[in-house]
Amino acid sequence: MKHLVDTLRDSHHLSDEGYEALLTSDDAQLVAHLHHEARRVATSVFGHGIFVRGLIELTNVCRNDCYYCGIRRSNTALPRYILTHEQVMQSCQAGYELGFRTFVLQGGELPREKASWIAGLVADIRASWSDCAITLSLGEWERKDYELFRRAGADRYLLRHETVTPAHYALLHPSGMSLDNRLRCLNDLRDLGFQTGTGIMVGSPGQTVAHLVADIKFIERFEPQMIGLGPFIPQAETPLGKYPAGSADVTTRLYSIFRLMFPHALIPSTTALNTLDPEGRVMGIHAGANVVMPNLTPAGERGLYTLYDGKSATDPAEGLARLEAQLAGIGYHIDWGRGDYRESTKTL
Ligand code: SAH
Repeated sequence: MKHLVDTLRDSHHLSDEGYEALLTSDDAQLVAHLHHEARRVATSVFGHGIFVRGLIELTNVCRNDCYYCGIRRSNTALPRYILTHEQVMQSCQAGYELGFRTFVLQGGELPREKASWIAGLVADIRASWSDCAITLSLGEWERKDYELFRRAGADRYLLRHETVTPAHYALLHPSGMSLDNRLRCLNDLRDLGFQTGTGIMVGSPGQTVAHLVADIKFIERFEPQMIGLGPFIPQAETPLGKYPAGSADVTTRLYSIFRLMFPHALIPSTTALNTLDPEGRVMGIHAGANVVMPNLTPAGERGLYTLYDGKSATDPAEGLARLEAQLAGIGYHIDWGRGDYRESTKTL
């Protein structure tokens, strides 16, 4: 079955059965070949540099109620915060001094009337650090709000579609939320000129291999610039808190599949993967990921962004030192560039 990997590498596409075989095969040599080829493609495009993004967890306030997420609005056990304008600017300043040139503002979905406050924040970051990229990951908004964020200077937007199968979407979200709206958001974001990222949780409750193949094919059609994938990890205060976590193996197979499909895509080795397995970050890079997102959230709030249980709240400078050592240990280094999506002219 090695030929499946070679076909995917050379044509960037497989049949449904081909994807299914790569996801489920128990042939360890095949899986090793999949990761090896993905890593080879990643290093031929990006060298041994790994882009870093400074993650600022803007708020754990959320108007949505996703069944899997620890910051869902029905979780009354969680103290809520919204970082002040000042706190965000201080986090960016600290991040800039550490060397970051991309800031990611991620958070729960604030009340709609907060859109202009968010836009003001983006404009201020844009004016203060004109050489930095600004990524938002703030969930679902109206097109006019995304337009406001884009005009204010945001460059990129991360919004995982989570699952493209409607029945599965309905298992993970309450009836007030819809897959159609999520996809509408993604189309608006792309249309407005954001570098757009999407993706899924791997092993979310009810997920089947057929769902994963459908998600691969959706991503194939959507052609995102960024692809975010992490294992589902239960959070005790949520309705899905008793389901088992997703698998690091399937997550890293997906990193490799997407790397072979999209040689130039920005694929983070995610915090969730590293939470599931202490070696997760390295496993992700060895599977073809080329981005990591260290946390720049102020110390007082860092422990309150509890999407799932066991999420670490490491100090930024300390985390960075550990990351540098970890990368050096496997022959990689941090690439301090902005790391925009580029179709490189290098031949693979
Ligand atoms: N509210 C925004 C951004 C914050 S959540 C949004 O929905 O896009 C960011 C991502 O965290 C989500 O897309 C989801 O894929 C992931 N996430 C949420 N709960 C999780 C859990 N229990 N385990 C793993 N990942 C989770």
